[in-house]
Amino acid sequence: MVNRSETGEIAILAESLRRHLQRRQRAGIHILPNEQPDRAVTPDRAGESQHSARPEADVSAESPWLSAKNLDELRSEIGDCRRCKLCSGRKNIVFGIGNPHARLMFVGEGPGRDEDLQGEPFVGRAGQLLTDIITKGMGLKREDVYIANVVKCRPPENRNPEPDEVSACEPFLKKQIDLVRPQVIVGLGKFAVQTLLQSKVPITKLRGTWHRYQGIKLMPTFHPAYLLRNPADKKLVWEDIKKVIQELRCENT
Ligand code: URA
Repeated sequence: MVNRSETGEIAILAESLRRHLQRRQRAGIHILPNEQPDRAVTPDRAGESQHSARPEADVSAESPWLSAKNLDELRSEIGDCRRCKLCSGRKNIVFGIGNPHARLMFVGEGPGRDEDLQGEPFVGRAGQLLTDIITKGMGLKREDVYIANVVKCRPPENRNPEPDEVSACEPFLKKQIDLVRPQVIVGLGKFAVQTLLQSKVPITKLRGTWHRYQGIKLMPTFHPAYLLRNPADKKLVWEDIKKVIQELRCENT
């Protein structure tokens, strides 16, 4: 039996759902939340042909509870986050760093020890290699780009983040991407790329071709930490980065 107060709650929930769906419709999103056409990329769909005009989703409509209008406000909304179990072992929340209007954004997996201590992404050995890619390879400054991770707190022993941790943190990454609105995202490594694309396709197959994340061009490549262990594959990353440079040049003309 549903009592009167439960009936009232159901009515409030139904009204809130109706308004949420209306907002999504106004934002041009005509899919239900569990349909993810942008992200379900199969190898066949993963090539350049996908670049045809795809409606740019308003990510804030996907995370309506995040009202931040800029990155500082988003950082404040995250606060002293206790939304998942990673909070218990972290020293610092590693939010993200760089140009808030960057044309290029890098997304990694999650902070390691150095990042946790300093509160900044990619500052350890792998980070130095990423900085070299940005500065020596691309001729940019680290401050020109924006760098973030899928999860903002260090997983213990640098293990992969677990699904509940990703679910808790991903809305913040989505919102960061929505606020920065880069022209190109470079996904660093298997975990970040598979998470962004909701794909189980190996990084060896995904890398080097263009994909889309929320309407933004995404280039998957190997993680700098992988490159430290497999320096012979640096040439493959350079191939991927050259495509990114080319894309940014095209967008500039
Ligand atoms: N590896 C990542 O994925 N992110 C960092 O910030 C550092 C290392």
